[in-house]
Amino acid sequence: MAKKALRLLKVLSLLLVIAISFSAAATQAPSYHDVRPGYGVTRTGWLSDYCQALKGTSGDTMVYYLESGEPGMDVMVLGGTHANEISGILASTLLVELAEVKAGRLIVIPHANNSAAMAPDSRGGLFLEQVRIAASSSDRIFKYGDRYTMEADQPEYKADPLGAESRNLNRVYPGSPDGTLTQKIAYGITSLIEKEGIDTAIDLHEANPKSTLCWNIISPDATLDIAVLTAFELEERGIRMIPDRSGPGFAGYSHWEWSRKGATSFLIETVNPGMESGMKADPVVSDEYPIEKRVGIHLETILTLIKYRSELKGGEFIIEGVPGYKDLTEKGISKYLR
Ligand SMILES: [Zn+2]
Repeated sequence: MAKKALRLLKVLSLLLVIAISFSAAATQAPSYHDVRPGYGVTRTGWLSDYCQALKGTSGDTMVYYLESGEPGMDVMVLGGTHANEISGILASTLLVELAEVKAGRLIVIPHANNSAAMAPDSRGGLFLEQVRIAASSSDRIFKYGDRYTMEADQPEYKADPLGAESRNLNRVYPGSPDGTLTQKIAYGITSLIEKEGIDTAIDLHEANPKSTLCWNIISPDATLDIAVLTAFELEERGIRMIPDRSGPGFAGYSHWEWSRKGATSFLIETVNPGMESGMKADPVVSDEYPIEKRVGIHLETILTLIKYRSELKGGEFIIEGVPGYKDLTEKGISKYLR
């Protein structure tokens, strides 16, 4: 009888331990994203460091700093402005995991709109919440989210003159510290650009294969020459990118508003087959638009834009360890994801 009671007690205490660990997991600050910082990352922070009102909200997101300690250009790269545009998220994740900056400084935000990453894609045909990609260690899971800040995080959008677009991060720059959640995120990014003295800012996107935005590099007139030289050089390497003009008609967009804060700004668009409405196409595995090709083009375009920015406007920037288009298309993304 005593033995039975002892066994029961053991089972009960085991259940208690399991219950405690589950409740602890539920109350911890959630770590939503699998980003594995490499040797180049010197510190991490939060977007709420630049907009206090984001602290404790689903709009807060991690910021990765890759600091050389040597003078040079300050560069910011954003993935996940639209959380269903997965190649930008993966390209910025690879920068965090592989890049080493030898002159200048790189600041990366792989999931710019974290709230959007928490909702399933509402426009593609698959209603995905995540994608699984084989990596050198084991399979990696990446959030595949929505274009918009989660509805529950911004219910007041229905009365907003912008409607649903008020939940689109790339419509509400420069943002506001006491506005909607999306405006707070935009404000955090704008403040980062100002406080860190960002010279070059790059926003990574993807477009529906039928969109005229496919394979675009968008920049204001004053810096369009950098986009044109980049496109020429990329064409020699078999990558066709199209320079496109930003302007005052793009008020609220990253490429226009960031440039007004003094940063040489670009928006890069690759193509995501999963964004074609109702087509149920896989956003990763694709004959025409495989993820390796899109991530490779993002990375190669980023590095070439920085090179010409440096040549035309000054500011040294030396970065190593980043795979290019050829590396990714020949060896696959699995080789490079940790
Ligand atoms: Zn986008």
